Amino acid sequence: MQLDLLIFGGGAAGLWCLDRFRRAGYLAILLESTALGCGQTIQAQGIIHGGGKYALRGVRDFTAVQSTKAMPERWRRSLAGEIEPDLRAALVLSDRCHLWLPSGSMAARALSWGFMPLLAKGGLLSTPPQQLSNSMWPEALRGSALAVYALAEPVVATGSLLNALASPYRKSIFSYDVSDLRFAG
Ligand SMILES: Cc1cc2nc3c(=O)[nH]c(=O)nc-3n(C[C@H](O)[C@H](O)[C@H](O)COP(=O)(O)OP(=O)(O)OC[C@H]3O[C@@H](n4cnc5c(N)ncnc54)[C@H](O)[C@@H]3O)c2cc1C
Repeated sequence: MQLDLLIFGGGAAGLWCLDRFRRAGYLAILLESTALGCGQTIQAQGIIHGGGKYALRGVRDFTAVQSTKAMPERWRRSLAGEIEPDLRAALVLSDRCHLWLPSGSMAARALSWGFMPLLAKGGLLSTPPQQLSNSMWPEALRGSALAVYALAEPVVATGSLLNALASPYRKSIFSYDVSDLRFAG
């Protein structure tokens, strides 16, 4: 077999690459040494970040903020099957996250959070935090938070995401023994 690409590791990154390259017409296969996503992906919370996380500490990394800005909307369209990869088979656990300031938070932290609406105003955040009135707080946070915000970043079940990405390419994904791989010249 004459391959164009050999991808090592079937986490979210490797599977996403496999999909991109295959749809671009390259003959690509993926080799997985253990189990798909068994490094980080399966452990992740599955939040599709839109820059908010990077803003929490007062933004030291504008590149990270800008490069993730478009992600929630891009993923929403994939999760709805409007664009490739079609991720309709992935389970969406929630269409938003909650952020909260625990009671007794330091003033410094409250101040850094105040930075987020400013970034949103400046067009740097696609998912500005919305402060929720007490009646809209999740039950678990009542009595233990100073303020609660909703952030329009969807959350996916990562196991189902791995399945959705891998399903169309099962015949191009192989498990192998790392100690037994040889390349012939
Ligand atoms: C606790 C936690 C929570 C997180 N929460 C989020 C979140 O909410 N949102 C978010 O965007 N990110 C989150 N992340 C980060 C995110 O999970 C990672 O950025 C992402 O999963 C990395 O994907 P990956 O494909 O690069 O790596 P992995 O998912 O680690 O996949 C690597 C794959 O390579 C395989 N492999 C390793 N060595 C070899 C080899 N020699 N040959 C073949 N295969 C090999 C492994 O078995 C594995 O399947 C979180 C991470 C952690 C740890």
